[in-house]
Amino acid sequence: MNIMSIADNIARVEEQIAAACRRAMRPHESVQLMAVSKTHPAASIAEAFACGIRLFGENRVQEFAAKRPALQTAEVFADASPACFHLIGPLQSNKATRAAEIFHTVDSVDSLRLAQRLDEACAAAGKRLPVLIEIKLSPEPSKHGLAPDAAELHQLLERLPELKNLHMRGLMTIPPYSDDLEQVRPYFRQLRELRDSLAQQYPALQFDGLSMGMSHDFSVAIEEGSTLVRIGTAIFGARPPA
Ligand SMILES: *Cc1c(COP(=O)(O)O)cnc(C)c1O
Repeated sequence: MNIMSIADNIARVEEQIAAACRRAMRPHESVQLMAVSKTHPAASIAEAFACGIRLFGENRVQEFAAKRPALQTAEVFADASPACFHLIGPLQSNKATRAAEIFHTVDSVDSLRLAQRLDEACAAAGKRLPVLIEIKLSPEPSKHGLAPDAAELHQLLERLPELKNLHMRGLMTIPPYSDDLEQVRPYFRQLRELRDSLAQQYPALQFDGLSMGMSHDFSVAIEEGSTLVRIGTAIFGARPPA
């Protein structure tokens, strides 16, 4: 992995996405590739940008804020088709204002309070923010998100149409890790089914986005309907241990 360049890695991942789309009989354009650049320097982001990547995921507000000046210098925002950064990590309400300022989309909304904070921050900034709701399908304490049967999920979905500065775009999940992809598949299927049922229950909201699939399991996620795969390690190499 480490001797491969970011360009080689992106080309390989794109081929694997195309192959999964063929197996699932889906058009390649129905799946977006997000390069997850957390822990990696601005120079690596600029390298991926030069290879055509326009969608990036970061998991911490401070880390991305610290990288932004170097990204401005590298002109990843100046291009006619600029880079777009999604927050994919847990967000505390007290950092909602800063997150709303610097991210294009927040994919990890996991409480009504956070949604309200983001809405207020966007009202002040005169900005409309696309959001995804993070769903927790397995009970590990390390996982964030709202359980499919949580009362708060429904409170949030009922209130979202009033939060005019937020634009609901779909769901995100992180399934439990397994080397056996058939163990992971049911989680991806469950998220898709949950999306289909919520879309019927809440017709005023848009549920087109299904963010699921990471470096080791994205092929199966695509087979199960993912519209956005979040790839870190397979593009940028291994991260330092957390
Ligand atoms: C780090 C991270 C990823 C990328 O994981 P890889 O296994 O390195 O591809 C995807 N999604 C989220 C939410 C992450 O925090």
